[in-house]
Amino acid sequence: MNLEEKVREHINKIKEKDGKIKSFIEVWEEDSIKRAKELELKKEKGKLYGKIVAIKDNMLFEGKEITAGSKILKGHISSYTATAVKKMIDEDAIIIGRTNMDEFAMGSSNENSAYFPTRNPINTDYVPGGSSGGSAAAVAADFADISLGSDTGGSIRQPASFCGIYGLKPTYGTVSRYGLIAFASSLDQIGPFAKTIDDLKSAYDTIKGFDPNDSTTYKEMKEHSDKKLSDMSLGIIEFDEKGCDEAVIENFNKAIGELSKKTKKTVKIKMPHLKYAISSYYIVASSEASSNLARFDGIRYGRYEEGKDLESSYEKTRGKGFGTEVKRRIILGTYALSAGYYDEYYLKAQKIRALVKKDFDEAFKTADILIIPTTPTTAFKIGEKSENPLSMYLNDIFTVPVNLAGVCALSAPYGKDSKGLPCGVQIIADRFSEKYLFEAAKGLL
Ligand code: GLN
Repeated sequence: MNLEEKVREHINKIKEKDGKIKSFIEVWEEDSIKRAKELELKKEKGKLYGKIVAIKDNMLFEGKEITAGSKILKGHISSYTATAVKKMIDEDAIIIGRTNMDEFAMGSSNENSAYFPTRNPINTDYVPGGSSGGSAAAVAADFADISLGSDTGGSIRQPASFCGIYGLKPTYGTVSRYGLIAFASSLDQIGPFAKTIDDLKSAYDTIKGFDPNDSTTYKEMKEHSDKKLSDMSLGIIEFDEKGCDEAVIENFNKAIGELSKKTKKTVKIKMPHLKYAISSYYIVASSEASSNLARFDGIRYGRYEEGKDLESSYEKTRGKGFGTEVKRRIILGTYALSAGYYDEYYLKAQKIRALVKKDFDEAFKTADILIIPTTPTTAFKIGEKSENPLSMYLNDIFTVPVNLAGVCALSAPYGKDSKGLPCGVQIIADRFSEKYLFEAAKGLL
């Protein structure tokens, strides 16, 4: 099959099945076919030649609409292309469309999208996870080989786990955020989804690297040298099993058994501050969001709604344009940053963040890789948690510590529950140790 035929086949599959799953907001059919034809004529092919890629609706792609899953940005056209997307294109990937997401990446189920909820391809009564749920579903349903998502507190790993695929949250500062609509800038990181470790790795190798347009990217990445799994020590993070599904624990224990056999030694890891990570994350992330989202005022960005004066115009624009969860975070974040509460909330959350980071630093003194389940439960039913934001937030309990510490982690599919829904194992490694993650994930195959 030539590349054009492959693209047409994928587009037909999307037309046939995405009406139900709804992973895409927009599919660029003509562009993809045109590009396939052009790429076929190229003499030297890039690393990602032949790969069909979907991108989350918060990554700029010049000339295309981008909305971050929000009504406020409806009709906004990207004026340039995000570095990560550009790097994929430079290696001959075909960008087939943009995927659905929780509005401004705030959520764990894709139910916060202003468009529609995406459904889990494994069982469409269930959520695909979020906020990059559309990107995860697109790969799980074989609409794309690879997709890009963003992970602020778990938004790549959690949907990867729910949809039974691989998802990588790279080390903070390894992948440029230039052209990514910001949610919480000190936590956000772009990363790939794929069905195979090879695809995941080649996507990561493509998008990583210093970018003068993002001053938080590292000039020099002190990547750890190759280490075989048999030379690694495995750290098992101790956690409270209360609130976890039985199947999640069972599969996790099996994964421990599998990896313990293949590694040099196994140690138990205590992380005393892990239990405070969720509280810290939701303060830090919401505070940064309240500041980042101030630009959507209808004048600089966002669809303008005329009021009787400037203030009422802002109120109308933001009141109508933002959804409930986004407003909740802006209000929470503004409160946490306000005079009189700053010390009590924001500063305290930052102190906890430093302690969580210290827990990881300590852990990596004795272990090369750490494991913990990706999520406490398998996918939940659409509507099951949408009325209860707190129970939704608790789903991120095992993923947010990684973002607070800036280290890297991967979710690998491992086993299923009695309903046939996938479970995921989260493998965590120190900064710049993505290679360890790929190596360890192979150990679970
Ligand atoms: N579910 C988390 C939140 O709602 C994480 C989101 C993300 O990683 N973008 O904030």
